[in-house]
Amino acid sequence: MANGPKIDFPEFYQAKDTNTHKGICYSIYGTLKITVGTEHWGKASVSCKSQVAQAFVKQQTEIGGAWTMKSKTKPKSRLNDAKMSSRVVNTVSESDGSDMRTGDFQDGVGRSKILIDARMKTWHKGNLHAHSVISDGKLSPAQVAEMYRNRGYSFLAFSEHQRYTFHSDLQRPGFIILPAIERNKSFGNPRRYFHINGILGPKHIRKLATMEPYEHMQRVPMPDLENYRETAQAIVDELRQSGHIVMFNHPNWSFSNFEDLLSIDGYFAVEIFNCTAEVETGDGLSTIYWDAALRAGRKVWGIAADDNHNRNRYGEAPPEWDSFGGWVMVNAEELSHDAITTALLEGNFYSSTGPDIYHLSFDGNRVYVECSPVKRIYFRTYFRHGYSRCRADGKSIDSADYELRGGEKYIRVECVDEKGGIAWSNPIFLQ
Ligand SMILES: [Zn+2]
Ligand SMILES: [Zn+2]
Repeated sequence: MANGPKIDFPEFYQAKDTNTHKGICYSIYGTLKITVGTEHWGKASVSCKSQVAQAFVKQQTEIGGAWTMKSKTKPKSRLNDAKMSSRVVNTVSESDGSDMRTGDFQDGVGRSKILIDARMKTWHKGNLHAHSVISDGKLSPAQVAEMYRNRGYSFLAFSEHQRYTFHSDLQRPGFIILPAIERNKSFGNPRRYFHINGILGPKHIRKLATMEPYEHMQRVPMPDLENYRETAQAIVDELRQSGHIVMFNHPNWSFSNFEDLLSIDGYFAVEIFNCTAEVETGDGLSTIYWDAALRAGRKVWGIAADDNHNRNRYGEAPPEWDSFGGWVMVNAEELSHDAITTALLEGNFYSSTGPDIYHLSFDGNRVYVECSPVKRIYFRTYFRHGYSRCRADGKSIDSADYELRGGEKYIRVECVDEKGGIAWSNPIFLQ
């Protein structure tokens, strides 16, 4: 196909091999792709008229396939389609999943949802975990904000230990600060730590608040409780009651066990990558905790963040050594506190330490992802249904798909590049 005619393939056309139900020819935004079974064997960036697409199907039929073709209903607008994404996840998560595996690709067409679409100019890069001299960071808030702004970030949350801050004076056109705090305590011997971020939530969450919001530079005391679970739950509850959304920070670095995470309710996300933990002690990755929560039926998102302290205690690296290592790309129509925190809460983002995810869609039967060049793409699911994709010749890949086998419960995508950078989609929940 790579040498095929330059053709204008219409959007949202799909065809399938009716013999095997496995061969799929489809087009997403002018890129014609063909998969047979689970092997990605043809790809061409083309645009074609429907008759040429039909000719392609005819040609496939002549060489042994039995292809039929069906045009999809074009969504009203891509914006609307992307706005659907969080609802897709919620809708899907609320169903019992019994109708999600039909075995007929075309039946799934009507439910096709685009969860990530990088062509929309509504993606904002942010760091949700940062420290300054106000707690144990090395740089001033102004220095930290400037560093991230210069690096192209759109938003930043200062999460000082036990102290709530909102540096509204450091906001600029195209750069906002999210009011936040990190609350932490440690317990037992050997020690395990409990660190969580409270980020001021969107209006609809703040409306439900039963406690007064915190003020800039307010020190927030710990509840006078001794055991892990009680203290942790009290802090989560207090943050939520004062209008915050809560992230469970660096469980790996905190020596948490799975039970710690599962014994606490009310956090919307797990910090799955922490850059400081990674560069200081190699404990940055916490995806195993995320999967533990997901396997237990929790519907929580995964967040990569820096937790930058810029102190470089261990070497000669530059002060930004634990900055710019982990971030979120948030899909929100505008760069505002309300839009960003709503999108976070709804899972309308992906996390990364390197690669970009350009496209993610789910049609009820099949998950399809496109990303920047990577060495391997993983589909992670409940139990052992997941798998990974790579090329036999070791060259990079930039797309992959996963067809439901039944019983997945959730599917999430990890794209891993040559340097070890990872991009994580949020899970698609099936039940
Ligand atoms: Zn922490
Ligand atoms: Zn921190």
